[in-house]
Amino acid sequence: MWRRWRACLSHLKGSTPPLTFQTWFAVIEPISIEGDEVTVEIPNAQYWEWINDNYRHAFFESIRREIGPNAVVVPVFNGKKLETTRRRTADEAIAEASEMVSARHATPERESAPEFGSAPERSPIISTDDFDSNLNPQYTFDNFIKGEGNQLARAAAVAISENPGGTSFNPFFLYGGVGLGKTHLIQALGNAILARSPGRRVKYVSSDEFTVRFVESIQNDRANDFYNYYKKVDVLVIDDVQFFEGKERTQDLFFNIFNALHQSGKQIALSSDKAPKDLRGIKERLVSRFNWGLAADIQPPDLETRLAILNKKSEEYGAEMKPEAIEYIAKHVTSNIRELEGCLIKLIASGSLNGGEISVQTAKRIVNEISSVRRPRISVDMITGVVCDYLDVDEKKIRDKTRKQEIVLARQISMYLAKRFTDSSLKNIGLHFGGRDHSTVIHAIQNVEREMTRDQEYRERIERLADKIHVVGT
Ligand code: ADP
Ligand code: MG
Repeated sequence: MWRRWRACLSHLKGSTPPLTFQTWFAVIEPISIEGDEVTVEIPNAQYWEWINDNYRHAFFESIRREIGPNAVVVPVFNGKKLETTRRRTADEAIAEASEMVSARHATPERESAPEFGSAPERSPIISTDDFDSNLNPQYTFDNFIKGEGNQLARAAAVAISENPGGTSFNPFFLYGGVGLGKTHLIQALGNAILARSPGRRVKYVSSDEFTVRFVESIQNDRANDFYNYYKKVDVLVIDDVQFFEGKERTQDLFFNIFNALHQSGKQIALSSDKAPKDLRGIKERLVSRFNWGLAADIQPPDLETRLAILNKKSEEYGAEMKPEAIEYIAKHVTSNIRELEGCLIKLIASGSLNGGEISVQTAKRIVNEISSVRRPRISVDMITGVVCDYLDVDEKKIRDKTRKQEIVLARQISMYLAKRFTDSSLKNIGLHFGGRDHSTVIHAIQNVEREMTRDQEYRERIERLADKIHVVGT
């Protein structure tokens, strides 16, 4: 799908300044392309506004060239479909979008029971003649800013990209906290290898996706195909291997793939939120292999790096910011780079709508808003655990096909809270619940929000849960 989406943007890319393209278009994630309908996830509501205001024609024209004259683009933000055309302030736009969505829930077919238990999304059984690296070309070494905390990891990744499989850094095990650049760096590694030798079969996959596709392949009696596919890649990049915890069959399969690749000198790169020795629920023989090559960590950025990142990114975005505003953010948003970026995007959005330079006051307001929401320890699984505990349902059942009332309820609430409290994409949230489709996640979120507006008691329960998540997450 990324490949198709890249084709959609290719015409636009040729006619847009590279930084503008990078800033506003490369960050859009395709969710699905079905017939004429292209569903995309955008980082925030103002993006859509901005694109409509500035690049409406070029953007839609580029997509029509790939999809056809009747192509429609459905933007999704925060789990909600969005439609905006008129110019508004940021707050108005958000308020209106949520209202529109609540109103739209009232359509009859969405009224009834949620769409759970439907057949699993058709598994794209992978064929080798149509090899998709799954890499997001947006992540490169060039736009990865060096700092004390990532120096070693970056240097190692660059060295590997120049000689994949040929250094002693095999596997390359990259670990560190949330939002510090692990995904960026290992994808940059994959992209750099592809740039040097386009014929290489570089495969990037999240551990979630790997697990779900594996389970699907078993159900479809294609487990051998799955294994053979992965055995044939030249460079295997798996993101967030901590999610292999407790998944024994997946670990066994991965163990075999690892051995096959390693023995034939193929490069393996892994990321994790913990050092190998701190992983729990992963078999010893795998953990020891993680240490065969180089385990390198990424540390949170120091003040100097945070300033460098903010300066570089605000320049890229073409945002005029008072130096004091940049400094304020760098001093107060300390935990990770994703938050720094989120802060900047929000600021730019508010700036580009109201016009003028970004002041310290605006910076303060946005920093306060952002820093209270995203907490590194809040993960989809942690949220699911809290919800199941609170509603007293068996956590394992959440991933099954069951449509039992209380399970469906717990699942929907977990999905809603996952979207609210984490940076996970809709696709990724779906994967955490037994490989459900992004549209299922959207329905779940809409259902919960509708109930919250209708039913005071329900709303209070959700907010109590939100509080619990906050407490556990801090
Ligand atoms: P992780 O996978 O560790 O949770 P990501 O790789 O998703 O973190 O990084 C979060 C965001 O911060 C991404 O948008 C990424 O591009 C950006 N980022 C992280 N580190 C850097 C860096 N050193 N230079 C530029 N951008 C960075
Ligand atoms: Mg990541």
